[in-house]
Amino acid sequence: MNSISQSFKSKNIYSYTLDELMGLLEPSFRAKQIYHWLYHQYETDFGNMKNLPKNLREALANTFEITHLEIIKCQQSQDGSKKYLFKTRDQHTFEAVLLKMRDKKIRQDGSIQEGEKWTICLSSQIGCRVGCLFCYTGKGGFIRHLESGEIVEQVVQIKRDNYISPHKRMNIVYMGMGEPLDNLDNVSMAIRILSELEGLSISTRRQTISTSGIAPKIEELGRMNLGVQLAISLHAVDDELRSKLIPMNRAYNIEKVLSQVRAFPVDSRKRVMFEYLMIKGVNDDLKSAKKLLQLLDGIKSKVNLILFNPHEGSEFERPNLDDVRKFADFLIHKGLLCTIRESKGLDISAACGQLREKISKENVSYETF
Ligand code: SF4
Repeated sequence: MNSISQSFKSKNIYSYTLDELMGLLEPSFRAKQIYHWLYHQYETDFGNMKNLPKNLREALANTFEITHLEIIKCQQSQDGSKKYLFKTRDQHTFEAVLLKMRDKKIRQDGSIQEGEKWTICLSSQIGCRVGCLFCYTGKGGFIRHLESGEIVEQVVQIKRDNYISPHKRMNIVYMGMGEPLDNLDNVSMAIRILSELEGLSISTRRQTISTSGIAPKIEELGRMNLGVQLAISLHAVDDELRSKLIPMNRAYNIEKVLSQVRAFPVDSRKRVMFEYLMIKGVNDDLKSAKKLLQLLDGIKSKVNLILFNPHEGSEFERPNLDDVRKFADFLIHKGLLCTIRESKGLDISAACGQLREKISKENVSYETF
């Protein structure tokens, strides 16, 4: 007998873990076959899932839907990064970015193997209610959470669009539009689905949640013990400046955020990433670097310095590279792991919300391609 239980939670097939799908199907092994079609073949039509009986294919098509997102714009940067603008079924738009990075591995014999590393930056909400001063998305306000299936589908569509093999290792960062911890139920479900071994098999250790610092949600995420990595948008070393940049700091100040980070279960091979957005003349001096060092004392951390990416109407400026290097050198000299993030996709408005904003200003008519 091939049948589907009537108690299903969503029409979006990407919203289901393998166990959930197995619980709905009789016989349950059909779920693995469906997972294979969805995540290894990137199939979008139940009718083409040829190893399933015809009556099951029809029942699936009557119960579930596969495609919920439409790619309406894709911009490719000179550095190989691609920014996607997706449209949801209820006609909202949001972004995701495919980042291509050089990867170097040192072989046992000391020779260097060069390759490519892919990271997908996902959105978790349409809009955002955190309202960071430097962010386009924050300015547009909050519209709604993305469902877990809509988060998972971003990865499937980007992999399909770039012919990326299902077995190719990927990193995921929840750093696109929205605050992932404000949508923790759906984001944590998406993390589980993306890590399914029968599906995309993206280990939770390769998935990083980047948060502006909702302290109680960091605690809740820690209790889930997913094995996911944590990145904190710190950006400032004093509460006055941080509250200006991230208004939520008034509720969860630096001390509250760092105390939850100290309690967070970090994989022994990993570190908590602290994002520090360097803004010219605001937080790029050595006094700030010293304070940062003190704040992170005792946390297994690494600091990622991000150069502010100016956009139209912004009151902030990009810092001088010399100041950024001095800042980084100071931290490294003191024993802290510190990187300067290469600004990927500067020519494609890659900071969150910028493509969506640009499109709505230009009043571009959408085309599928
Ligand atoms: S930076 Fe992130 S958390 Fe802040 S407003 Fe933008 S999307 Fe929201």
